[in-house]
Amino acid sequence: MTLAGAIGAGTAAYAVQPEASHFVNGRYVEDTGGAVIDVVYPATGEVIARVHEATAAVIEEAIVSGRAAQAEWARLSGTERGRVLRRAADIMRERNRALSVLETWDTGKPLQETLVADATSGADALEYFGGLAGSLTGEHIPLPGGDWVYTVREPLGLCVGIGAWNYPTQIACWKGAPALACGNAMIFKPSEVTPLCALKVAEILVEAGAPAGLYNVIQGRGGVGGSLVSDPRVDKVSLTGSVSTGKKVYAAAAEGMKHVTMELGGKSPMLVFDDASVEDAVSGAILGNFYSSGQICSNGTRVFVQRGLKEAFLERLEERLQGVVMGDPMDEATNYGPMVSEAQLQIALSYVAKGVEEGARLVCGGARAEGPGCFLEPTVFADVTDEMTIAREEIFGPVMSVLDFDGEDEVVARANATEFGLSAGVYTSDLTRAHRVIGRLEAGSCFINSYNDAPVEVPFGGVKASGVGRENSKEAIGHYSQVKSVYVRMGATEAPF
Ligand code: NDP
Repeated sequence: MTLAGAIGAGTAAYAVQPEASHFVNGRYVEDTGGAVIDVVYPATGEVIARVHEATAAVIEEAIVSGRAAQAEWARLSGTERGRVLRRAADIMRERNRALSVLETWDTGKPLQETLVADATSGADALEYFGGLAGSLTGEHIPLPGGDWVYTVREPLGLCVGIGAWNYPTQIACWKGAPALACGNAMIFKPSEVTPLCALKVAEILVEAGAPAGLYNVIQGRGGVGGSLVSDPRVDKVSLTGSVSTGKKVYAAAAEGMKHVTMELGGKSPMLVFDDASVEDAVSGAILGNFYSSGQICSNGTRVFVQRGLKEAFLERLEERLQGVVMGDPMDEATNYGPMVSEAQLQIALSYVAKGVEEGARLVCGGARAEGPGCFLEPTVFADVTDEMTIAREEIFGPVMSVLDFDGEDEVVARANATEFGLSAGVYTSDLTRAHRVIGRLEAGSCFINSYNDAPVEVPFGGVKASGVGRENSKEAIGHYSQVKSVYVRMGATEAPF
């Protein structure tokens, strides 16, 4: 496959190699003094672009221009800020195909997915928070004697967003849109594995009217993220990443008493009761384990199936997996792509080996596909027990564990017996059981007879080790702003002496 050949006829495509590594102060910026980052196309293993890590000079310019732009931006009315975000959303939608192709180069996710899930969800966030920006107001609180208090919702200042590699466009927007709506500036550092897409978000925001410096994108590995987090001129850090990185970033942010949002990993349970629709439960398990080749934080990777339904569930799952079309991600008929990198593939393969070694039954998949690229067959283990490594640790790949259960109390206790708490799902046709069980599950984002929906109107985030704070919805406003209370005395000020 050639780079040019992958773009559909008549589509204005973006060059895969960006104009420069960083987008700072309203323009592309290069500093070849930073270490080289190769951008590898996961479907072939080819290096398709190269960028450089941000040097101290680039980081400095990002911080200085970010703070200057924030002061200017915060002076606009919310409606004016919202207009810019909504314009950016429109531009993203117009360029959806080009952005989706770029997302596919960056991540290897099939174009069939990226066309509907990435720039589109990024645009949703820009549109939603653009719409909210004009209504971010304070309160009036009447007090005895005619005194009163008013509150003002103020921006935090300069926010840092640090992204994982699975949804580079979406994460750049999920963090940027609420931050900007509230009057903040943002410096976004994408994962070194997927550095391309966030640059386009920055470029589009400037085109839509955002002041230069308001949304800067700088490249780098963990060290660059670390220096942003520890800089005293940064007021907030929002990370999407693993629990171990989250602990480090949270601790570093605490040193400066900075606000944080932590969107971290999970090992989420999906509970399938005997009375569930097998077809729907299998669909949920497929969505919650194999979409984006399993590289989704909220995936329901522990599928607890009540014993009476187990055989029917596994049989139908195996049949449905015949429908996997694995291959060239740029072919819109492909519905299953490679993992993001050789390193992630190797991690997933090591978990497959552990599953076999610890006695789980490999129902299907488990092997790397022949040929180039980081393809791992969709993998299903049955007869998985709670203490097995594959049932305890986040794999972040296409590996489903099916566990048996008998009763409701038992399965709820087992589902909650984890340090994580990102998501949970229940499949049942018993309405009262669905709500009762969801009420007892320790998770931030829950589903009844569905799995992994994440519309922008809905709070998204985890409890326990899976994170702090919420993205999306009106909840995100509270995480990108702070409240000032102003006491107004209408009479004399009384003092004891
Ligand atoms: P990592 O935790 O490895 O990295 C996340 C980001 O943090 C990367 O940009 C990384 O840079 C950066 N980073 C690493 N170390 C530091 C540091 N000390 N200071 C500042 N920044 C640092 O996660 P992955 O990129 O591997 O993503 C997979 C993980 O993300 C999974 O655990 C998954 O569950 C989670 N995730 C959570 C989501 C949620 O919303 N809850 C959504 C998507 C993923 P670099 O990559 O360059 O090292």
